[in-house]
Amino acid sequence: MDDLRSNLFYEKKNGYDLIGTEERLAVEDYCVGYMDYLNRSRMEREAVINAIELAKKNGFVEYHFGMELKPGTKIYYNNRSKALILAVIGKKSLAEGAVIAGAHVDSPRIDLKQVTLYEQDEMCYFKTHYYGGIKKYQWVTIPLELHGAVALKNGEVVDVVIGREPNEPKFIITDLLPHLAKDQMTKTLAEGITGEGLNILIGSAPYADEGKDRVKLAVMSILNDMYGITEEDFLSAELSAVPAFDVSEIGLDRSLIGGYGQDDRVCAYAELKALFDVTDPERTCVCILADKEETGSDGVTGMQSAAFDCFMEDLCATQGVAMRHCYANSFCVSADVSNAFDPLYPEVSEKRSESMINYGVSICKFTGSRGKGGTSDASAELVAYLRRLFAENGVVWQMAELGKVDQGGGGTIAKYMANRNIDTIDAGTPVLSMHAPFEVTSKFDCYMTYKAVLTAYKG
Ligand code: MN
Ligand code: MN
Repeated sequence: MDDLRSNLFYEKKNGYDLIGTEERLAVEDYCVGYMDYLNRSRMEREAVINAIELAKKNGFVEYHFGMELKPGTKIYYNNRSKALILAVIGKKSLAEGAVIAGAHVDSPRIDLKQVTLYEQDEMCYFKTHYYGGIKKYQWVTIPLELHGAVALKNGEVVDVVIGREPNEPKFIITDLLPHLAKDQMTKTLAEGITGEGLNILIGSAPYADEGKDRVKLAVMSILNDMYGITEEDFLSAELSAVPAFDVSEIGLDRSLIGGYGQDDRVCAYAELKALFDVTDPERTCVCILADKEETGSDGVTGMQSAAFDCFMEDLCATQGVAMRHCYANSFCVSADVSNAFDPLYPEVSEKRSESMINYGVSICKFTGSRGKGGTSDASAELVAYLRRLFAENGVVWQMAELGKVDQGGGGTIAKYMANRNIDTIDAGTPVLSMHAPFEVTSKFDCYMTYKAVLTAYKG
């Protein structure tokens, strides 16, 4: 009877029961590289710059139109330092399609407003406008660091990083003490902390002078000393506050990884490492690190931008292939994180269909919300193709949905790829506390995400 059951029933298994010692070591080895990349890549700009640095070490060269592309040629295309496309040219013609993996490198954060600096009651603050879907109460009373770029009128761009090094100052958004929070505590979690209330404390010592806004003057003169900027330069700046927590192992068994921005740099790194490890691929392998996913994939650096099509059209042109034919035969893994089932909040999940920590890379046939609204929904044939590939290559994976039906929902870049007439499926790493300042993944699942993308690239 048990044989009959195991033949006929589908049963998910904990990944640790499915791998040997050698692969457990590979998991640890992989995660050292991932944690280092994550710790250094706290903004999409840094994720792109660090990816280029790794790519160069792995033999990639900057793409320019008209360059000779032979099988095995490794190229990268930097889209405005905020998105990146890399490719390894395959042995087959692009007419037979490319294998594409697309992740995003932007994460929820607190952006500074363009008119940001102000003094109130002899304290100095930045006004902010949050980016992406955040639970605002999570972002107060945690150390923050400042990252981004200030574009000057003369065309020069000044990179800003303050607070990343242990000896550098941090910033903070304060919250009310419980003693005086009687009214605040009656508000909902959504209303207790407001968007306009997310003001970042940046200084308190007045400039040794007479007149108004002495603290602001002192702060501005420090910024001027450090970066040569004036208050007007904030108008053309992209500065963001992100959590100042270092990436670290979590748990006594060190089986988990905690860090800011794992959605979706965990998949971005998996794609990069897979692309570096693929040798002489049959079909051209493409890796996308997109921007603006958290705000809808709009804009020149988002996945709805023609930047990707322009790049692919260029590649196709070198082989005399029409891009539309390439797309029709291509396959895309939209590599983005999924929600991991959280035993502390079982009420939002339908356990049979939810990603479990340590059960491997999760595949979502569809995302979206309500009656499958806003999703590309991969075909049964595509899922079957992946089942076969993963089974043949020892990829531990699980099928997943995002929570109970009608509980909420979400999306990824998948639909923007599928809308291009590219067969696309969602695959990614399960995450606990997604979009929080400190997100949690499991080492096992991080590694299996990499292995899944590598397997797809090899085809
Ligand atoms: Mn994501
Ligand atoms: Mn997200």
